[in-house]
Amino acid sequence: MKRTVFVVGLGLIGGSIALAIRKEHDVHIRGYDISGEQLKVALSLKVIDEAATSLREGVEGADLIIFATPVLKTEQLVEEIAQFSLKTGAIVTDVGSTKVRIVGKAKHLQDKKVTFIGGHPMAGSHKSGVEAARSHLFENAFYILTPAEGTDVRAVIQLQNWLKGTKATFIELSAEQHDRLAGAISHFPHVIAASLVHQIAKIEGEDPLVSRLAAGGFRDITRIASSNPAMWRDILLHNKDSLLQLLEGWTREMECVKALIEEESGEAIFTYFQEAKDFRDGLP
Ligand code: NAD
Repeated sequence: MKRTVFVVGLGLIGGSIALAIRKEHDVHIRGYDISGEQLKVALSLKVIDEAATSLREGVEGADLIIFATPVLKTEQLVEEIAQFSLKTGAIVTDVGSTKVRIVGKAKHLQDKKVTFIGGHPMAGSHKSGVEAARSHLFENAFYILTPAEGTDVRAVIQLQNWLKGTKATFIELSAEQHDRLAGAISHFPHVIAASLVHQIAKIEGEDPLVSRLAAGGFRDITRIASSNPAMWRDILLHNKDSLLQLLEGWTREMECVKALIEEESGEAIFTYFQEAKDFRDGLP
């Protein structure tokens, strides 16, 4: 009998993971989404084989359960499934961009004879919805797994095997380290990109020419400001502590830059840019 994978949240990431799993495994994929429309599209695109009508029905007999919902929802749903009957030995995972709060909720599954392993495929797009799902979305990207201390290593290998069709590179971190690093390289830059766009929008009120001139570099650095606002709201709410720390550091740094400009310290300004260039050029 085919093994069953249950995907909750059939958007860009849930759909892409389902397609990647199907490429490597002969499985039955069941899906659930709060949007009936997304479910219908997922069925018609053959991303899933069967639509579950509820979470309870979906988890029944599933060997692998994947939450690909917005992070605030995932936190609730991980707790919710603890009241349902889950298959012994099942693996439960998620794809959320934040980890500490979601992994914290997994303690509700402790007595359920299943293994929860947090996950975050570090690739995506500013698009959302199952229509944008692609099996190759995660190729060559890092896929972070955050098994809790004491998690059976065989379950981690099993999960990597389930996900091998993503062709991603797996890396294990603690949930805390994940949120700190993802905050710095992904969440905080989204805040900065949005703030730059706001700045131009304000200037446009005085001088509409600014938008027409905002090409090249401005478009490059603000591309991520076109991402899904609901998703980013949830991520900021989840990763509050890391982001507040990063904001404090950034504000201090901007004060230093302000002083360099005020003092017209040409040499120091040059060094500021040179050091940034050297680090950026040296990125793998
Ligand atoms: P998406 O909007 O494309 O898909 C989310 C889906 O979840 C939607 O179809 C929505 O209807 C469904 N949903 C919402 N609430 C639900 C509920 N209560 N029950 C069932 N379904 C529900 O978003 P996405 O980009 O696929 O993001 C999903 C997750 O992946 C998020 O946790 C996000 O942090 C993470 N992620 C996103 C990216 C990215 O670049 N988009 C990258 C890595 C990880």
